[in-house]
Amino acid sequence: MSVALITGGSRGIGRTIAEKLAKSGYNIVICYSGNESAAQEAIAECKKQGVQAIYIKADVSNKDDVNNMFGEIKELMGPVDVLVNNAGITRDGLLLRMTENDFDGVIDTNLKGTFLCTKAAIKDMMKARKGRIINISSIVGVQGNAGQANYCASKAGIIGFTKSVAREYGSKGVTVNAVAPGFIQTAMTDTLPDSVKDAYLKQIPAGRFGTAEDVANVVEFLASDKASYVTGQVIEVTGGM
Ligand code: NDP
Repeated sequence: MSVALITGGSRGIGRTIAEKLAKSGYNIVICYSGNESAAQEAIAECKKQGVQAIYIKADVSNKDDVNNMFGEIKELMGPVDVLVNNAGITRDGLLLRMTENDFDGVIDTNLKGTFLCTKAAIKDMMKARKGRIINISSIVGVQGNAGQANYCASKAGIIGFTKSVAREYGSKGVTVNAVAPGFIQTAMTDTLPDSVKDAYLKQIPAGRFGTAEDVANVVEFLASDKASYVTGQVIEVTGGM
């Protein structure tokens, strides 16, 4: 049975992706950074689909954590067939108030985390001559957003990274794509003031905010055999925003 690793699979969009891939029959690994009870709940939900599911605490921005995690997965379940680089954080602020720590923290988790996990996954995928890497970017990585220079830079970086790695490993049967969600209802967006939410809603032709399920549906497709000829792409899931 194929193995899917979803970083940040304990909550929000990542959790919905994990549950969706479990329904499709993948054995599931999720990693999280601090909230163990959320990870336990997510795994319990995946197991209901009759697949194996485990969680591992690993900070994706830490090389040793990432390499230990991949070693553990290989021992327990076999090599990773589908990697979803979903773990992400925000530390918003206007540029003049943004500290070096705010900048480095977001780049390290979102962009460097994607680099470290992809590097750890790629050798086994090349050996198998098959693999799927799906990176969760954001529409603001394409368009920019005031107050999120660090986050937008990390998400734009993920797009360049995706297109480059797709070119490097296309001939080895490994596809690498990015998904760029728009405004998705999760804990990350729940904290925004109503005035900001209303302003976003006006820009969405579909007339509603996105759901984690909207994103997970696209990830499920990109992970499947049906998407074997799709690589180096950025799929926007924004309701037309
Ligand atoms: P949440 O804040 O709901 O969940 C984030 C997840 O990432 C949690 O599981 C968290 O684990 C994990 N995580 C955070 N930092 C690390 C780390 N250093 N190492 C390992 N795991 C970590 O986020 P969302 O579901 O809203 O977002 C998921 C992805 O989608 C992110 O990449 C985000 O940028 C992107 N996105 C979200 C949008 C939205 O509107 N919500 C729009 C566009 C993109 P723990 O709880 O243990 O810290």
